[in-house]
Amino acid sequence: MGVAATTRHCIFCEIVHGAGEASICYQDDRAIAFMDIQPVNAGHVLIVPREHFETLSDVPHALAMHLFDVALRLGPVVRKLSGSPDLNVVVNSGEAAGQDVFHHHVHLIPRRPDDGFDVPLPFSGSQMPDRTLLDAMAARIIGELHDPVKRTSREQPASLGA
Ligand code: AMP
Ligand code: ZN
Repeated sequence: MGVAATTRHCIFCEIVHGAGEASICYQDDRAIAFMDIQPVNAGHVLIVPREHFETLSDVPHALAMHLFDVALRLGPVVRKLSGSPDLNVVVNSGEAAGQDVFHHHVHLIPRRPDDGFDVPLPFSGSQMPDRTLLDAMAARIIGELHDPVKRTSREQPASLGA
């Protein structure tokens, strides 16, 4: 179990351990990928680490990179077989971000015109902040990135709010 090991029932851990039904389309020593049970379109794949980590923030850097690498490898195959040239690669990390299964995973979603699915960006509810606010936030991010004594990725992020 990973750092964020949980005592909660985890359907993806069951699948990883062969105890849950799944249509597996890829596996290696660190990751498996299987078909989403409720696909947006045919070919919707979930890429899942074998080890249990709840959210993206809990996943070690190298493993997160590996999962994305698997997504890049599967992408052309999914595009070819689904007949959909377009894809969303989606990670929902945390409750407010819409995560439902708290075992980190990457969605690979083939898209069709008018399939009814939407990632509604740009956000129509945005206040379109002044450039000075965008610049200030960019400067804060740069400051954090270059501060040698700042936190590791596992620690709680500082609020970027006003
Ligand atoms: P998320 O909201 O990012 O946590 O997405 C969870 C995804 O897992 C949803 O798209 C579900 O359809 C999918 N899902 C949940 N249970 C299973 C399962 N047993 N096998 C395959 N996919 C699943
Ligand atoms: Zn799990």
